[in-house]
Amino acid sequence: MFKRVAVIGVGFMGGSFALACREVLGCTLYGVDINPEAIRKAKELRVIDEGSTDTTALRDFDPELVVIATPVRTFESIGKNLREVIGQSCIVSDLGSVKGTLVYSMEELLGSRFVGGHPIAGTEKAGVEHARKDLFKGKRFIITPTPSTDAHAKRLVKDLWEAIGSMVEEMDPYLHDFVFGVVSHLPHAVAFALIHTVEELSGEVNLFKYPGAGFKDFTRIAGSDPVMWRDIFLQNSQEVLKSMDVFMNTLSQLRKLIFEGDEKALTEYLALASSLRKSLDG
Ligand code: NAD
Repeated sequence: MFKRVAVIGVGFMGGSFALACREVLGCTLYGVDINPEAIRKAKELRVIDEGSTDTTALRDFDPELVVIATPVRTFESIGKNLREVIGQSCIVSDLGSVKGTLVYSMEELLGSRFVGGHPIAGTEKAGVEHARKDLFKGKRFIITPTPSTDAHAKRLVKDLWEAIGSMVEEMDPYLHDFVFGVVSHLPHAVAFALIHTVEELSGEVNLFKYPGAGFKDFTRIAGSDPVMWRDIFLQNSQEVLKSMDVFMNTLSQLRKLIFEGDEKALTEYLALASSLRKSLDG
């Protein structure tokens, strides 16, 4: 399928993709990362064969597929550099958490061979040292083509992710940003804000000494990489702000039920949430 694959951003996701890709394709992997330490570690861990801090090094490698796995607000400048150094037939895809207008900007820069993608897999950990070749197995991979996306490029990207073991689903780029704005970006925002709330309420008592499993489960994702999440919140700000408004409304409803001591309504509110949450586990 692809013999030479390049990954830009050899961190947790890019590294995991490189490992998975090598396992199914047996291809040669080239890594590009602004951080020389990431390249050094990725080579040491045999995640990539060769690497550079400079995108122009891809001219000699001549990749058939390039996958961008950097924070989303870097994509456009990477796209501009890439088009100068890759061949006409090279396909470009990504692992970014935001799609929408970004997919159309990348298409403008790189043409119809750009195929937007988002693996619904991950953790709060950053860096290639956490990369896992089985990260994407049995997980969804959302592909976000536009009406102009090249059908052959889309087919090859889809086939690769199916070979990796993901369940590939197509979604409109804007619908993607609404959906993941609600089910991923909003919960991260709430987790970050909850940590700030506890910090603000810690006066004489250091409240961070006392959390139990519930607090730790709920806030695990607040340990995620700040640059990655800054970029996601800013790149998908419209959808994130809309879902935050709805969240503040539902939190106010809960506050009102507690304030009014309305036992019946409060039980109903909690019972509905509890049964909806249980249905997630099948
Ligand atoms: P990470 O911090 O582990 O890796 C990002 C890498 O990109 C780092 O090595 C960094 O040095 C490099 N980088 C940053 N700017 C660069 C640039 N301009 N050029 C070249 N390299 C650059 O982060 P990650 O968790 O691997 O996330 C990468 C992408 O994957 C993001 O777009 C994120 O939205 C997406 N994603 C992450 C998860 C997750 O759970 N972590 C899940 C789905 C999608």
